[in-house]
Amino acid sequence: MLIVMQKDATTAQHDGVQEAIRSLGFEAIPVPGPSRMAICVVGNDGPVSEAPFVGLGGIAELIRVSQPYKLVSREVHPENTVISVGNAQIGAARPVLMAGPCSVETESRTLEIARQVAAKGAEIFRAGAYKPRTSPYSFQGLGEEGLHTLKCVRDETGLAVVTEVIDPESVDIVASYVDILQIGARNMQNFSLIKKAARAGLPVLLKRGLSATIEEWLMAAEYILSEGNKNVILCERGIRTFSTHARNTLDLNVVPLVQSLSHLPIVVDPSHGVGDRNRVRPMARAGLAAGASGLLIEVHTAPDTAYSDGAQTISVEDFEGIGRDAELIAGLEDL
Ligand code: PEP
Ligand code: MN
Repeated sequence: MLIVMQKDATTAQHDGVQEAIRSLGFEAIPVPGPSRMAICVVGNDGPVSEAPFVGLGGIAELIRVSQPYKLVSREVHPENTVISVGNAQIGAARPVLMAGPCSVETESRTLEIARQVAAKGAEIFRAGAYKPRTSPYSFQGLGEEGLHTLKCVRDETGLAVVTEVIDPESVDIVASYVDILQIGARNMQNFSLIKKAARAGLPVLLKRGLSATIEEWLMAAEYILSEGNKNVILCERGIRTFSTHARNTLDLNVVPLVQSLSHLPIVVDPSHGVGDRNRVRPMARAGLAAGASGLLIEVHTAPDTAYSDGAQTISVEDFEGIGRDAELIAGLEDL
């Protein structure tokens, strides 16, 4: 349930409502908005009775929240969440481009890629220092050395940086080097990891699990919000289906659907969604045309030499084309 308070409700009335919620054994989470203050009831399994609130002062409206995810839902938070990172605004009208190699590579190569994607419109640099690989024999990432390189990228280019965190033990160290923590598809329901990442206080980019439903994905986001971190960026990166013609099936249906269900920004990762560099640009266009707040794309100055995911990694020239597409698509009329 969402309890919307009257504009002129007193502090004592706010406290009274929160106390009533707690005395029922539930948690009270204040949800400030531009036009009103509301208090969300969480921790209830079934519907919450209205009776305990009927005689309380300062209440404007009691709203039933129909979704199991509360803080993530648009019912509780009608306005879009806009997340400021570096110079970028994720969730605002203009889409944000996040680009870089799959893995952090040598410092000189990584800086070279960062400078070039920055020159072509990227506002956020992406690269993994810790890589969750299917095979234990594949390159696992440079670890802390990679984090140092990401810090150099940030210092030298001014780009904000997103990187993946793969276990709770490394959350604090990773968070001390970067601007956004990425939770990879394989870890979307690793709740001890996502709670720890949430508490680091940085925005969290939460990729959709390999075969996660929308509800499972939004409930994973709810874990982050329930830890007090409101800055979650959802990322569609393709799901496992019967199709074998692509690495994954990029499910662009979720873009408008998530936007109707949640106030959180959603971005699209066409690189992992298709797995083939020749199809990244068309699907990047499609993601933006569907209304995504940005793209996460694997880009390299010499894609065939990439330490990981070379087959889906595009050139800087292709990335430049996507930047032009983004400008054009941003100029289209809203649906
Ligand atoms: C990545 O972004 O490089 C990555 C490993 O992505 P995902 O978790 O979507 O497979
Ligand atoms: Mn990758």
